[in-house]
Amino acid sequence: MGKTTDSSDAKAVGEAVDPARLERDLAFLATLGARDDGGVARLALDANDTQARLWLAEQAAALGANASVDAIGNLFLDLPGSDPTLAPVVTGSHLDSQPAGGRYDGALGVLAGLEALRALGDAGIQPRRPLSLVSWTNEEGARFAPGTSGSAVFCGVRGLDETRAIRDADGVSLGSALDECLAALDAAGIPRRPLATPMHAFVELHIEQGPILERVGAPAGVVEGIQGVSWFEVTLSGSANHAGTTPRAMRRDALEGACALAASLREAARDEADRVRFTIGKFVVSPGSVNTIPDRVTFSIDLRHPEAATLDALSASFRLLAGQPWAGCQATLTPLSRIEPVDFPAPLTALLADTAEDLALTAPRLMSGAFHDAIHLAGHCPTAMLFVPCRGGLSHHPDEHVDLDEAVAGTRLLAASLARLCA
Ligand SMILES: [Zn+2]
Repeated sequence: MGKTTDSSDAKAVGEAVDPARLERDLAFLATLGARDDGGVARLALDANDTQARLWLAEQAAALGANASVDAIGNLFLDLPGSDPTLAPVVTGSHLDSQPAGGRYDGALGVLAGLEALRALGDAGIQPRRPLSLVSWTNEEGARFAPGTSGSAVFCGVRGLDETRAIRDADGVSLGSALDECLAALDAAGIPRRPLATPMHAFVELHIEQGPILERVGAPAGVVEGIQGVSWFEVTLSGSANHAGTTPRAMRRDALEGACALAASLREAARDEADRVRFTIGKFVVSPGSVNTIPDRVTFSIDLRHPEAATLDALSASFRLLAGQPWAGCQATLTPLSRIEPVDFPAPLTALLADTAEDLALTAPRLMSGAFHDAIHLAGHCPTAMLFVPCRGGLSHHPDEHVDLDEAVAGTRLLAASLARLCA
């Protein structure tokens, strides 16, 4: 049996991360679904995604780990601890990509986790707690919407049957694509495992997909939580009439009202600290004729903030604004969906920050602007995330790029943190 982990051992695990091995894995994974422009198209449960899972499962043997897969296709590599009665520490992310995606979104989190498991062995440390690596199914939602299927079903946030029933643009159900993938894993001898198994903690490494770490020149960041999001649909009803003959006093122009209301909503969402994210991404004008006054406009609002109270307050002021007449038109504001913000537990983010300090890595604290599987895991066990900067903050794009040095720094921080959590 190996020795138990203290903070100098955690440092040794971080140092055992092998940059060449990580670089080789990143390059290999990028060949599965490679695009001519250097990007990756590895859509959830397609042949390349299945290939990537088979490759990941094959890595288990060399680690002394066991591969297994659950009913929604989440693939786990479990490294035993010296005390098998303890719940495992878990790390991982996703292997699926956007149709014109990059090499790092999701993939880096899985490969950094794999490298962390190897580093633990290379440092000669057997953890007290089991340590597991997971690849969650369909995080992106690009082929089967909505995304984060694997983590949502695992955590009981969504049902397995309703998730299996989702269809892609070609009418293929997630269930039938999943069955094909599971058959390939069955043929490779990968056993099944139950959903919702207990975890001591979950730590996901992911590329930032934003510009903050690059701007401050930090190789990693400790994520304190994921901001919440509210979606609304706004409709303005006026009356259609001839564009040439209707004087201004007799018009009820839905577009005129919508433009004024949209500007007022945007103004209401303006905050000094620039933490509110307010986006109108869809704007539909009816009947959509050059010489007809529009009688109906529908637009969307995507509103995000780290605090639930701010989302509540902004929603209330949006309702008040929508209750007024706009260019003589009536407006309605319909809430479509809301996902609450998540704050990661302070003891876990403190452990990540302390470990960064031990490794002499600058790792500022920041919030996640995008969703991740971690948002569901946060309801299942203590959860946190680490971010690694990506060039220009660019993601969901073939040009997505992470410097190897920074990928390695993030992986060292992940590995050392996991070693501590397993001790
Ligand atoms: Zn991702």
